[in-house]
Amino acid sequence: MSLKIGVIGTGAIGQEHIARLNGKLAGSSVVAVNDINSENAQAVAARLCPSAKVHATGQDLVNSPDVDAVLVTSWGPSHEEFVLAAIEAGKPVFCEKPLATTAEACLRIVEAEIASGRHLVQVGFMRRYDAGYRLLKEVVTSGQIGDPLMLHCAHRNPSVPAHYVGDMGITDTFIHEIDVLRWLVDDDYVSAQVIQGKRSRHALNGLDDPYIVVLKTKSGVVIDTEIFVNCQFGYDIQCQIVGEDGTANLPEPATVPMRKNQMAGQSIMMDWKLRFIDSYDVELQEWVQATLQGKVTGPTAWDGYFAAVTSDACVEAKRTGQIVAINTDARPDFYR
Ligand code: NAP
Repeated sequence: MSLKIGVIGTGAIGQEHIARLNGKLAGSSVVAVNDINSENAQAVAARLCPSAKVHATGQDLVNSPDVDAVLVTSWGPSHEEFVLAAIEAGKPVFCEKPLATTAEACLRIVEAEIASGRHLVQVGFMRRYDAGYRLLKEVVTSGQIGDPLMLHCAHRNPSVPAHYVGDMGITDTFIHEIDVLRWLVDDDYVSAQVIQGKRSRHALNGLDDPYIVVLKTKSGVVIDTEIFVNCQFGYDIQCQIVGEDGTANLPEPATVPMRKNQMAGQSIMMDWKLRFIDSYDVELQEWVQATLQGKVTGPTAWDGYFAAVTSDACVEAKRTGQIVAINTDARPDFYR
């Protein structure tokens, strides 16, 4: 059986996901597309999924009887509308991060999903599908290093474009750590603090870069993450868990050690897309399989909401220099 998918948003990641779903992955086909730019949608369909119908609006696509499940890859501010429409139509929906651009909007999605009585929504936090993070999670859950006490992490990009401004270091970059670290330690955050570093001369447009975010969890785990998006040398994701009985590190991507020009070493990736490319395949393949079985096995709407609340607290902590509390209601039974 094949899952017939409609894709809303045929920009960069929409095209990549369409190519995955139609060519590389099993059990799915893209039967419908939509984009606010209809010429773009027509061109993408012609190139990547010629038999797909191009719909005039995202709502038409969601309500089409030919569409079993919806993939939302449009820009962030449109996510809420399309995810709510899918819930109303009773259709499974995979929404790229962010679930919505405000915590209030994420909560509206959570409430709509609970009211529908069906698990329908998955959020595109793909780090949970990275082979390295999965190995690290196994080490934690097996108890090999005892209870996690502290985590030291880093998210470094070689550089960022001119349109990367303001708090995007948190809302666009650190948002991935927010989700994956909470999943790793299986604990919710209770507070956030941001400590500014000395500004790099490579940081453009008044961007604060680098800084450290410190999150504390309910059970007392302290997580520090360096965010440095103009580090120059490469795309470098680090995570070390300090446990009661040992430490565990996120494995480095496999590269060939070389000795050359009086130096010994391994290359470091420059492109974030390459670092996590395999995890996108695993993420969507597992979503297709789970959806065909009527399940949601990945990050839920509640996870999307919790990430949004945490991100807001980090932005406030960065602005004020204060330790900011992270408050949500208890996780609803629906998401346990
Ligand atoms: P993009 O290249 O700008 O693509 C977004 C597309 O959505 C554009 O074609 C845009 O059209 C279209 N669009 C905007 N509003 C729409 C609406 N109301 N209805 C239908 N289509 C609409 O952006 P992207 O890089 O693909 O990112 C898309 C989403 O994926 C974002 O939320 C982003 O954060 C997320 N993302 C996630 C990851 C990850 O690692 N998980 C990586 C990349 C992106 P116009 O260009 O004409 O406005």
